[in-house]
Amino acid sequence: MTTTEPRLIRPFIDGTETGSGELIERRAPGTDAVVSHIVSTDPADVERAIRAARTSFDDGRWADTTGFHRSAVLHRLADLIDRDAELLARLDAEEAGKPIRIARGDVAGAASLCRYAAALALTQHGDSYTNNGPDFTGLLIKQPVGVVSLVIPWNFPALILCQKLPFALAAGCSAVIKPSEFTSASALHIANLCSEAGVPDGIVNLVTGAGDVGQLLNESPWIDMVSFTGSTATGKKVMQAAAGTMKKLSLELGGKAGSLVFDDANLEDAIAGVTFGVTFNNGECCVSQARLIVQDGIADELIAGVSERMRQVRIGQPLDETSDVGAMIHAQHRDKVIEFVNGASEAGAEVALGGNVLRGGDYGSGQFVEATVIDGVRPEFDAFSQEIFGPVLTVTRFSDDDEGIDLTNRVSYGLSNSVWSKNVDRVLTAAKEIRSGTVYANTAIDGPPQMPIGGFKASGIGREMGEAGFEEYLETKSINIRTGRRADSFIIPGSAA
Ligand code: NDP
Repeated sequence: MTTTEPRLIRPFIDGTETGSGELIERRAPGTDAVVSHIVSTDPADVERAIRAARTSFDDGRWADTTGFHRSAVLHRLADLIDRDAELLARLDAEEAGKPIRIARGDVAGAASLCRYAAALALTQHGDSYTNNGPDFTGLLIKQPVGVVSLVIPWNFPALILCQKLPFALAAGCSAVIKPSEFTSASALHIANLCSEAGVPDGIVNLVTGAGDVGQLLNESPWIDMVSFTGSTATGKKVMQAAAGTMKKLSLELGGKAGSLVFDDANLEDAIAGVTFGVTFNNGECCVSQARLIVQDGIADELIAGVSERMRQVRIGQPLDETSDVGAMIHAQHRDKVIEFVNGASEAGAEVALGGNVLRGGDYGSGQFVEATVIDGVRPEFDAFSQEIFGPVLTVTRFSDDDEGIDLTNRVSYGLSNSVWSKNVDRVLTAAKEIRSGTVYANTAIDGPPQMPIGGFKASGIGREMGEAGFEEYLETKSINIRTGRRADSFIIPGSAA
């Protein structure tokens, strides 16, 4: 079921695959077969990658090109991603254990994000103020942040890379990418595609290996910004390390989203949406809608419907066209998912569906778990408050709207949540009171490139995608111009003239 013999995944520095270090073996989560050998980049080669990015930024070979040029290159990159879509999808499906159909969607999304970033490169602009008297003009100009490190997790290797890289390139930044050690193949391929699209050497670099390689990027004085996606625990480490050199940070961290279903929801839609929201991408998703919070009057009917729908979810090999859910990223993670289920059961919840590892037959030695529903989960349970990151739905009931909104907010995370109701008052009231960067209304995990994502609370800092995501890679500079003779009086910053 592998695409080829094990591939060698090496760093990409100054336009060339190069560099050495110990090899890390990557086994496909679906089959346990070795699919990649990943170089754990030597510190000296990490330094080389950082220097290449720094030099390329400082000499202006990309930052000084026109937005028109950068836009054209990003369109070419999108076309190349489309050309190689099937290969990229297979690499991600194989290494991440995600179903091939989901991986194809990710790659199509990656190309769309490049096209959206191309539009931003073309239309990027500053602002001016001419309302402070005839001899004062204020110009606000936007400039690239500089060298950015892009740290990518394993759950959406190509897609999350393209939530960052094309936006950084549109702004004129240089980049050092650090993909997850579990899923580095598609990122290396996309780095090569950047060269083919016409990005000059040195602008896009990639270092492979585990967290210690990422840590070198956090600490480097030559890097201006870290854009990180991953767990809140690692995000805190990145923040601490980056403080030493006062880097700009964009942190897209964990989530524990609720599907808040009111008693006037369209039940058929809610059943389909809740099931999709928790099983999409194996449930290994920062916006996974992992908590069903349902109003008493419809709870029994909804839970029965969702359980039936979850039972029909086809768990299978990632490269099987019929699989809805594939394999967990590795055995340790699979076991962690099951521990959450067992912990909730021991605390008094009822495992209404699933809850077991799947072995033998088609599952072979892969890391598969059953689609699982746990009813009667209370807010104090770990399964309610912590990221499980698997196809596991917890169920909690509520009586009135305030209680439902309170339960939705009763976690440390605030990345996304969904609201289900046919009453616009209820939807808008809940959407405003819910403390998360995204609220889906009568839908789940549904959003075009224009809509930013990012966290309130422990889910992070900054935004990705949309114009807000682009702004992360830009600095604003104020140019305060006095014309004519310099006045004896001047405008104190912040005061009225
Ligand atoms: P991590 O947060 O540890 O990993 C995310 C990325 O950060 C990987 O590329 C990782 O490299 C890298 N990394 C690790 N340490 C550092 C560091 N000090 N500096 C810079 N980069 C670093 O996630 P895990 O893989 O350990 O997953 C654990 C849990 O995190 C999951 O179970 C899930 O709950 C959550 N998670 C959330 C994600 C999200 O989308 N919000 C994505 C992934 C995980 P490497 O993997 O090579 O060590």
